[in-house]
Amino acid sequence: MTPAGAAVDLRSDTVTRPSEPMRAAMAAAPVGDDVYGEDPTVAALEERVADLLGHEAGLFTPTGSMANQLALRLLVHPGEELLCDAEAHVARAELGAAAALSGITTRTWVSRRGRLDTDVVADLARPDAGPYLVSTTALAVEDTHNFGGGTVQSISEMRRLREFADAASLATHLDGARLWHAHRVTGVPLRDYGALFDTVMVAFSKGLGAPAGSVLVSCAERIAEARIWRKRFGGGMRQVGILAAGALYALDHNLDRLPEDHARARRLAEAVAQAAPDVVDPTAVETNIVNLDLSGVAVSASEFAAGARAAGVLVSALGPRRVRLVTHLDLGDEHVVHACTVLPALLA
Ligand SMILES: *Cc1c(COP(=O)(O)O)cnc(C)c1O
Repeated sequence: MTPAGAAVDLRSDTVTRPSEPMRAAMAAAPVGDDVYGEDPTVAALEERVADLLGHEAGLFTPTGSMANQLALRLLVHPGEELLCDAEAHVARAELGAAAALSGITTRTWVSRRGRLDTDVVADLARPDAGPYLVSTTALAVEDTHNFGGGTVQSISEMRRLREFADAASLATHLDGARLWHAHRVTGVPLRDYGALFDTVMVAFSKGLGAPAGSVLVSCAERIAEARIWRKRFGGGMRQVGILAAGALYALDHNLDRLPEDHARARRLAEAVAQAAPDVVDPTAVETNIVNLDLSGVAVSASEFAAGARAAGVLVSALGPRRVRLVTHLDLGDEHVVHACTVLPALLA
């Protein structure tokens, strides 16, 4: 078993638990009824995140999915079309919400590891398609790209996308659940990302280690409308400054340490690649997510996950031959060392 006796949990960066000082900050937070607009801690978080991303206003939501869906609801009318990557969270992991809740149709482009290529998007887009074909109204980008393997988008490619979107009068949304990680890798200021998108979602319950919460930012008018739709979607919350305080604590204490997670992900990939070079290319690991491709080896993803579990390491089987490892702030060096022994042995 592991050094501490508990499993090394590499399934996701959502498995972290709030630290003692984060809990203390949450317990001490001034709160009020946020549906009445009276929670000072929520207001402080919304203002701070809007300012970080260079937008006028922010809206606290219980989940990243809700923030994404509020953005899409406001950018795309029923019967119109969103374009995104075929592996995008909004297309694959929100249970068809854009269609089910907002009457939005989605078409997708195919990418390598989730990496944005504006030429491919421009080929696919059909703005003002007339009375016969569906008109494209919005483009969504994910940075870092989750199912792509924590892929960091190039800022110059995103600038090209914005130029294309402006020329074609299309709106842009950034699913930035892990934009923090991209920002720490590229050094590009968060405001520079913000400037390229009409709406941006950032999450606090992934790499930043808060128990819940995301913020959607945009112009004041759109956020006022999003506030109404949040209530309509059932996301009006009351003394929720308790959660916002966790997010504020995370911004102060857990943003600068992300490179540690990136280095550990790279170490895991290097250990696996030593035993099975075809399974992962360590140089492709840019942030805290490692995708293992088991198509060239005898072991399936579920067999690999079961073997790892038996040795005290939890991983996600994302497909028959696909495994995902994610590093996060609840791992210690001893956990990484243990995983670096267990995982390669399953492939040797
Ligand atoms: C997790 C995630 C979301 C959704 O966040 P939830 O809080 O789980 O709803 C959206 N986009 C990406 C890229 C994610 O990884």
